[in-house]
Amino acid sequence: MATKRIRKAAVIGSGVMGSGIAAHLANAGIEVYLLDIVPFNPGEKDDINDPAFRNSIATRNKALLAKTSPSPIFTKRDLDLITVGNMDDNLDWFAEVDWIVEAVPESMPIKKATFDKVEAHVNDHAIISSNTSGLSIEGMLEGRSESFKKRFIVTHFFNPVRYMKLLELVEGPDTAPEVVDAMVEFGRDVLGKGIVFGKDTTNFIANRIGVHGMMTIMHLMKKYEMSIEGVDTVFGKAMGRPKSAVFRTADMVGLDTFVHVAKNCYDTLTEDEEREIFQVPDFMGTLVEKGLTGQKAGGGFYKKG
Ligand code: NAD
Repeated sequence: MATKRIRKAAVIGSGVMGSGIAAHLANAGIEVYLLDIVPFNPGEKDDINDPAFRNSIATRNKALLAKTSPSPIFTKRDLDLITVGNMDDNLDWFAEVDWIVEAVPESMPIKKATFDKVEAHVNDHAIISSNTSGLSIEGMLEGRSESFKKRFIVTHFFNPVRYMKLLELVEGPDTAPEVVDAMVEFGRDVLGKGIVFGKDTTNFIANRIGVHGMMTIMHLMKKYEMSIEGVDTVFGKAMGRPKSAVFRTADMVGLDTFVHVAKNCYDTLTEDEEREIFQVPDFMGTLVEKGLTGQKAGGGFYKKG
């Protein structure tokens, strides 16, 4: 199969990672379509009841634009390279791009439903990838065509995308060598990332090890009644990493995403003697239930700000 040089991309999901990926691409001079679903938050109740809001594509796109904040953007020219749109109104955009990267929530059903839409509209040369933290590739590709499977790869970026220098690539069983080569070259030469190869095992390398470490610390904190601030002071400031201490990192990742990633280990590593470490502590589940999912919401372990 032939891939083309990546000049135009579509990013699906404009949350923490999708916004960061879109900004990084635009800063590298790549044209980007950034797609999401229109947020129906309680505050927008009036809009939901307004037929114009429901029916007009322009209004839906405007609502999305208000929600989306690609960051950091270097110049106005870079920002102009990003076009934001509601996913279901703009599925034809997939036919125009050389790479489609999915960054929707870490949920198998949502990922699979997204790929249904991609497959129905993608052209015959685009590379298709997922930014999943560690869901099974075989699971995500269930029911997909041979052509789709050949062009599929996991491109796992790290948060914040602009500053984290690593890209974890994971091939599926049918990924074509040209697709791997194209992604290595693009990731390294255009996006400035170092590349590491993971395997299609639960949470690949980064999150299988990284989440284990963070979960261990959370359980020990609870067991020994340490304070969140105390743990973060020791593992953050004292180690010269004031912004990346354990609980601050969890807030930056998004507690809902963190819970999904930990749960993926808990649900799939059924024979693993360390499985219990991935059991999400009650205090974290409670924050998620209250909508306190971290920096992207009103706050999480820390207040927003
Ligand atoms: P997020 O919750 O911040 O954003 C997800 C976005 O997807 C939201 O804006 C949501 O409105 C949108 N969305 C939901 N359903 C959709 C649909 N059907 N179609 C289009 N858009 C839809 O999540 P995130 O943190 O950006 O994570 C996205 C992916 O990246 C996940 O797979 C996650 O595991 C992975 N990831 C996250 C991090 C991190 O630090 N947050 C790091 C690496 C990888």
